[in-house]
Formats: sequence, structure tokens, C-alpha cells
Amino acid sequence: MQLPLGRKLPLLISGLILLVLAAASGAAYVEVERSAWTTAKERVVSLAEQLANLTSGSIVARGAMMKRAATDTAVRRMLRSRGTGILDTTRGVSEALERLAVPTDSAGVIEIWDGAGHTRARFAGRIARVADTADDAQRTRLASRESGAGGLDSVRTGAFYARGDSVYAWYALPISDGGLATGFVAQRAKLARNAASASAERGLREIMGPGIDLFLANATDSLRTTTTGAMSAQPPELKSATGPVVYRDRASGEMLGAKATVAGTPWLIEIAMPRATVLTGTRVFLKRTSIMSLAILIIGALLAWLLSRQVTRPLAKLTAATNAVSAGDYAYRVDIAHGDELGQLGSAFNVMAERVSESRAAIEQQRAAAESARKEAVAASQAKSDFLAVMSHELRTPLNAILGFSSLMIDGITGPVTEQQRAQLARIRSGGQHLLALIDEILSLTRLEAGREEVRAEQGDAFVVARETAALAEPMAALKGLALVADIPVGACDARTDFTKLRQILLNLLSNAIKFTNDGAVTLSVRVAGDDVHFAVSDTGIGIAPEDRARIFEPFFQVEMSKARRVAGTGLGLSVTRHLARLLGGDVTLRSEEEVGSTFELRIPRYTLGTSAPMKEDGLHERALAVLPESGAAARGGGVAMPRR
Ligand code: ADP
Repeated sequence: MQLPLGRKLPLLISGLILLVLAAASGAAYVEVERSAWTTAKERVVSLAEQLANLTSGSIVARGAMMKRAATDTAVRRMLRSRGTGILDTTRGVSEALERLAVPTDSAGVIEIWDGAGHTRARFAGRIARVADTADDAQRTRLASRESGAGGLDSVRTGAFYARGDSVYAWYALPISDGGLATGFVAQRAKLARNAASASAERGLREIMGPGIDLFLANATDSLRTTTTGAMSAQPPELKSATGPVVYRDRASGEMLGAKATVAGTPWLIEIAMPRATVLTGTRVFLKRTSIMSLAILIIGALLAWLLSRQVTRPLAKLTAATNAVSAGDYAYRVDIAHGDELGQLGSAFNVMAERVSESRAAIEQQRAAAESARKEAVAASQAKSDFLAVMSHELRTPLNAILGFSSLMIDGITGPVTEQQRAQLARIRSGGQHLLALIDEILSLTRLEAGREEVRAEQGDAFVVARETAALAEPMAALKGLALVADIPVGACDARTDFTKLRQILLNLLSNAIKFTNDGAVTLSVRVAGDDVHFAVSDTGIGIAPEDRARIFEPFFQVEMSKARRVAGTGLGLSVTRHLARLLGGDVTLRSEEEVGSTFELRIPRYTLGTSAPMKEDGLHERALAVLPESGAAARGGGVAMPRR
């Protein structure tokens, strides 16, 4: 289906806007997502480092607290005394240890170890259960020489471990005496609770931001814990990571993570950020961009629609105007109030319509003039025909009287006449007959020229008609001592034409040939050629000069007027003949040589169209019949170009 321009244009422009917006938004989204990842990676790395520093800072602070117990004289004294196992702690030692206890850590244990890590004194919180095997292992490790890499002033930290539903870790600060670690102030802390009291947890959250997970992990095993003491296994990708790393977590999907080592401890800080958190900003951006794009699209579509209206409305007006003008409404004008090309087009159209309307009016005027001229001409022609018809009748009546009475007198019916009188009467009769022939010919030509003659086609045999016509001309030829040869093929030639007119044509040509031939022969030959029938009338007569050949078909033209007077004639016969031939759909042509002879050739279609009317008695038909010998040609005064003496 073909959309109208008014819809197509806005659709096209909107489509274009959509495309541009989609491309731009897509590119921007990719860029924003990339930068979100970059920012998030930097963030997790720096968060891990910050929290590691914070943690190691808090351990240093704890060390400062423990130092007080380590330098306590009661403690030193107790260590110097011989013995193993837990001693009955003196009042001074107990006080020093109690000072270290954290009021919120009811599972806390504070001990004094000797150089090998054996407990010499203990202070335990309310629910503390101590001295399990894991604790022994921790104790031995912390007291060992390898753990002392940080020097005698720094706190040693053990790997944290789970016991029951809590997570614990041991800290140990050497008690130095003369550059040697003679014992330790050791403290077991319930780690999760200790590291993140409610306020500490809040503080951490503020640093980290929402959606980010913080873990404390052991570098020595695969354990990690949240600040609330939930233990889990470290993802191997994160544990082995040196920078930010993206990995899949079975529970939370794709994660971005980073780790940092807590200085002076076997601990790691692990930060994990779910992909959704990384892309929160990006999603907000996408939403905003979509809303903005939609708004732009709507505004753009509206503008496109307005713009296209600006263009298509005048176009629609022009189209309507063009249709109106082409449908004949020449007064139609367009009204486009634009200063641009469309406005110019509109005015140009109006000018054009004005011109068209003017020239239409002029043509209309001319046509009216032509029509009235035609009517006048028709009327004039009608008047002429009427005049001729009347005149011929008026002339014929007295002429027939002259012919009739002169015949009566010649025949002696009105009384005896002398030979001399008879000869003069014969001249009167001959002159009358000539006059009558002339009147008939003029009338006939007038009818032909006025187009009043109709073709009355009938079925017949062209050969038979040719033979009959030749027979009619035979007596004329015999009178002049000429041979009349009918060269007509045997058999029949079925044809459909106006045979009366055909007879008239052939008789005209034959009588002319006889008239202008003094000795020799006149030949009528007939041939069928394709859809035509060819008739040729040739003679051995005087011939026609080249300069006269074209003119002899003109009315009243006779060759060599002075000499030709010897032979009677009107100069109308050939003109009538050609008119008749053309009326039948054919033509007459001439070949001739002076003093040798002439050949008139008639070509007519074998099957002509035309009204198939019954033999209605009309002028021409009457005349053709009139030349039949039995009809008494002389008496009727008819005949076509009969030779007259
Ligand atoms: P007309 O009544 O004078 O014969 P036509 O129209 O029949 O008038 O002929 C015109 C003229 O053409 C004749 O006067 C004659 O000079 C010339 N003409 C016609 N037929 C022949 C012919 N067969 N041979 C020589 N001249 C001819």
C-alpha cells in the first residue's frame, strides 16, 4: 500500500530520530558501563586497602593496651619465679589482666604465657571456655620464633577460627626482658563481635556503601568471616587475586572483588561487590536516557509532523487544483500563503491556470466561429443543391417538350415535312439531347460533391456486369467501325459493391474511349487482384498529352477546346467517374501516349462496405438503366456521355 506523503514523511523522520537516539544511547551506555566497572574496581581495591589499614591500626592500638600488662611489675615478677602450670595468681597480676578485659566480650580470655607459650596466669570472662586443643596449637605457633618477625614490640596475631557459633582469634604481645621474650600477654577475642560492635559496623557500612560485602579471611587457610561472624569459604579467584577480580559466586552470582593483606597479621580483608551493585548507576543512567529519548522522540515526531504538514498541505492543494483544472474547472485557483518555493509554485500554477483558461476561451470562440461558418456553408450548399434540383426540373420539362415535339415532327406524325426541315429538326433534337445530358451530369456531379450520393452495395458478379456493360457499348463502337474487345475471364467473380455505379463508371470510360478513337479497337479487361478487382479500358485513339493528363479529371476540362469541339461532350464525365470510383472505395488512374492510345484503369475493392439498400429508384440508377437499348435511350434523353453527331 502506498502511504500518503503526509504520513510517510513524519514516519521517516521519526524513524531517523529513533535510530540516532538508539545509536547514541547505546554508545553512551557502553561507555557508562565501562566507567562504572573501572570506578567499582578502583573502589573495591581502595576499600580493601583502607580496611586493612584500619584493622592493622586497631591491632596496634590493642598492642598499646596489652603493653601495660606486659610492663606490669607483678606480671614480670611472676614470670621470673620458677614453676610451670597455672599459678595462684597474685592480686597484682589479676588486676593487670582484668584491665585488659573488654566488657562486651564475655567470651574473652586473657592469659600470661611463659616463653614457650604455656599458660601461667589467666583471666576469663563469664562464659569463656578455654584451653581447647586448637587454642594450644595457636599458642605454640604465636610463641614460636617465626611469629616474632615483627619484633618484641608488636602484637602477634593468630589465624582466626570458629568454635561453636563464634569466631575467635588470639593476640600475643611479647614480654621482653633484656632483649628476649620471656613471656607473652595473650588475649583471645571473639572476633566478629569484637571487630564490629554495632557502632563499628555502622561506621564500616558508611565507609563501604550499600550492597558491598566485607570479609576477614585467613591467609593460611580458606576460611573467611563476615563482621557478624558468618563463616564461609573464600572464593579461590579472590584468594589468589593480585588486583580487582571478577568471579562467580554460587549464591550471589557475578561479583567484583579485591583483597588486601592486614599488615603484621595472617589476615586478609576481602571486599565483594555484586554486579548489580556495580551497575546501579548505569541502570539509573539507562532509565534516564530512555525517558529522555522518549521525550525527544515524541517532540521530534511532533515537529516532523508539523514540518511535513507545511509541505504536504500545499502539495495536496496543488494536487486538488491540478485535478480540478484537468477535469475542466479552469477557474480553480490555489491559495498557498507561503513565501517559499511552494508559494512560488502555487502562484506559478495560478498563472498557468489563467493562461489555460484564456486559451480555452479563445479556442472556444474559434470553435464557435468555425461551427457557425460550417453551418453557413452547409446552408449555402443546401441552397445550391435545392436551386439546381429545381432548376434542372424547370429546364427538363420544356426540354422534354422540345425533344418530344421535334421527334413527332421528324417522324411526320404532325404532318409532312421536307427533307430540309427534317434535317433542321434533327439538329434541334440533337442539341436538346446534349443539353439534357449536360443538365444530368451537372446534377450528378453536384450530388457527388455534396456527398449526397450513397453506396448501395449488393451481392453480384463483377464479370457479368462487365460483360453486360461491354454489350451496351457495342453499338456505339460499331457505329464508328471499331472493334470492342471484352477481355473478361470465364467463370464468376462474386463481389459486393454498388453495381449501378460500377456500370456507370465503365460506360463512361468505354464511351470516352470510343469517342476519342477513330480506328482500331477498344478493350475492356477485368482482373481480380487480391481483395481488389481491376478494370482497364484501353483504346488505340488520339491519346492524351502529358500536361493534360492530370487536368482531365477536373470538371468541364476538355483537351484542345477548339479541335475537341468536333466531338461533343461536357467535360464532366471523368470528374463524375473519379468521384464515383472513390465513393466505391477505389480510384481511377490513367496511362496514355499521344497518337497511340490511352488506358484508364479502375480499381475497386471486391467487397465494399456501404448501405445494403434495395434498388431504390434514384437519379443515377435511372440514368444507368436509361442507356439500355430496349429502354429507348434516345427517347428518354438519358445516357452518359453518349457520342453525338
Ligand atoms: P467529355 O464530356 O468532354 O468527354 P470527359 O470528362 O469525359 O468530358 O473528358 C474530358 C476530356 O478528356 C475530353 O474532352 C478529352 O479531351 C479527354 N479524354 C477523355 N477520354 C479520353 C480518351 N480515351 N482518349 C483521349 N482523350 C480523352
